[in-house]
Amino acid sequence: VVAVTANPGPVAPSRGALRPVGLHQVQLTGGFWGQRQAVNGTATIEHCREWLDRLGWTGNFRDPNAALRRRGREFSDSEVYKLTEAACWETARPGGHPHGELLAEFTALAAGAQAADGYLHTGYGRPGQPARYSDLNFGHELYCVGHLLQASVAAARTGAAPGLLDVARRAADHACTQFAHSGFCGHPEIEPGLVELYRVTGEERYLAQAAAFIERRGHRSLPEHEFGWRYFQDETPLRTADVFGGHAVRALYLANGAVDLAVETGDEDLLAAVIRQFDRTLARRTYITGGVGSRHLDESFGDDFALPPDRAYSETCAGVATIMLAHRLLLATGDTRYGDVVDRVLHNVIAAAVADDGRSFFYAHTLHQRTPAEVPPAEHEQLRFGGGQRAPWFEVSCCLTNVSRLLASLGTYLATEDDNGVQIHQYAPTRIEAAGMSLEVATAYPDAGDVTVTVLAAPADERTLTLRVPQWAGGGTHVERRVFTPGEQVRLDLAMRPRWTFPDPRVDAVRGCAAVEVGPIVMCAESIDQEDGVRLDELQVDTAVAPEANAVKGRSIRPVDEPWPYRNDRTTAEGPEPIVVPLVAYHRWARRGPSTMRVWLPTTPS
Ligand SMILES: [Zn+2]
Repeated sequence: VVAVTANPGPVAPSRGALRPVGLHQVQLTGGFWGQRQAVNGTATIEHCREWLDRLGWTGNFRDPNAALRRRGREFSDSEVYKLTEAACWETARPGGHPHGELLAEFTALAAGAQAADGYLHTGYGRPGQPARYSDLNFGHELYCVGHLLQASVAAARTGAAPGLLDVARRAADHACTQFAHSGFCGHPEIEPGLVELYRVTGEERYLAQAAAFIERRGHRSLPEHEFGWRYFQDETPLRTADVFGGHAVRALYLANGAVDLAVETGDEDLLAAVIRQFDRTLARRTYITGGVGSRHLDESFGDDFALPPDRAYSETCAGVATIMLAHRLLLATGDTRYGDVVDRVLHNVIAAAVADDGRSFFYAHTLHQRTPAEVPPAEHEQLRFGGGQRAPWFEVSCCLTNVSRLLASLGTYLATEDDNGVQIHQYAPTRIEAAGMSLEVATAYPDAGDVTVTVLAAPADERTLTLRVPQWAGGGTHVERRVFTPGEQVRLDLAMRPRWTFPDPRVDAVRGCAAVEVGPIVMCAESIDQEDGVRLDELQVDTAVAPEANAVKGRSIRPVDEPWPYRNDRTTAEGPEPIVVPLVAYHRWARRGPSTMRVWLPTTPS
């Protein structure tokens, strides 16, 4: 039933411009991401497992009849599944850390809590619990099943969790029967899960059900809610919407499922609809970091150009989902600009999300911290997740296991292949086996821009080696086609000059500001690095002077407090003092204790 020979990763489309590489085809051998992947494979997976046990979220499965003592929120089951998925990829990837015991235990938990008819959720349907499917808006029952299906795909493709695929199929069959004619979940996620389960099993019913869920949405059929139908992507059909809106993670998971469906069914209109919405979202609703979501109230996209840095939500999960979507569109279309999106989100959202020890995390990613945040307590979960300091766990802890499953499968996002050769989209020290070639990539990226690809083995006929050139280095691709011989090298030198970046004037919240980027890295000013007495809200930087790697020139304007902070002239502050403003990579901020921080720096009036 399962094609394990190629060891596919999370996404294995049956067609597309480019083919994904499998889990065994790309090995991270060190560097920026190899180090993070290793920490994830040991510390983060173990940390998540400890918290799932400590808070009783695994316990819900062990004793599902103790309904009135159930712990955690409606979606806590999904964290068990996402950690299962992460552990599968980690166990099976080359050089990974084995988690066989965890996987055997979690598989048994899911199987043990499953009802005879296939229904699986620890929070509904038993005596003392709400009825099954009594709250489609917020019940998250099918959402949790979606994560179970994705975990089972990882289990089937790696062989790391025998038995989980059977549990997932029973749950999927139940969902297909229950929702044969109407209804869908308020939180999309089962859609990409069903399509991938179809890819693993060949069962057409799963593909048809994913299509039904996607087409039913957008007709205002969910119960009315104060956040509006848009929050649930139920305001406008996905086929006709022009931009992503509503809850950001919901919108992006739905878009992922729509791309998967479009690719499997050859539905060009549906694929074009997602591309159109993603293009507009990137152009008008995305932070410089690649993060999305600018409203805390409903975790949603704001209007076009509503991108306040100090209220950036930019949830880690939305970053993960953006990478998943960009990767799917890269595979479908072959358009390498999607590699730029992955590069930006990886280095500025995902890299920022996890502490160096892999045991505390950002949920939201502010771009402007105005007051130092308190260090969260180590002993209990955070109820709020606005940013400021990384926390060990959250009441809503979706982001932790999400980033874990991404890091464990990261190799599959770095390169692709086709009948002509190999395409390298992300630069990291790696060994790549694809299109009959064996390659070794050496680079210090993102700290330096030189990339050396050494051919270790190649077939006797021609191959094409394609290297993405990031937009900031000119864009496009570097292509070499010939008969490659072992030992020869292909080099790419991406100029990493620090550069000023200015916002579209319609991004009102940062008008008159500039940011510094170096390669794919967004820089920020953090208070801990500034000279004594220099405050980040009193800075102006001079964009007439080229930025250096870790500092820019500017002045401290020392404004004076007035009873009323508005005046009828444009008088600027007296006697500004010239200063040097040290910068640090945004992903490094808040690793040295509480501090203030800003990405967008006000510029001196010209
Ligand atoms: Zn999240």
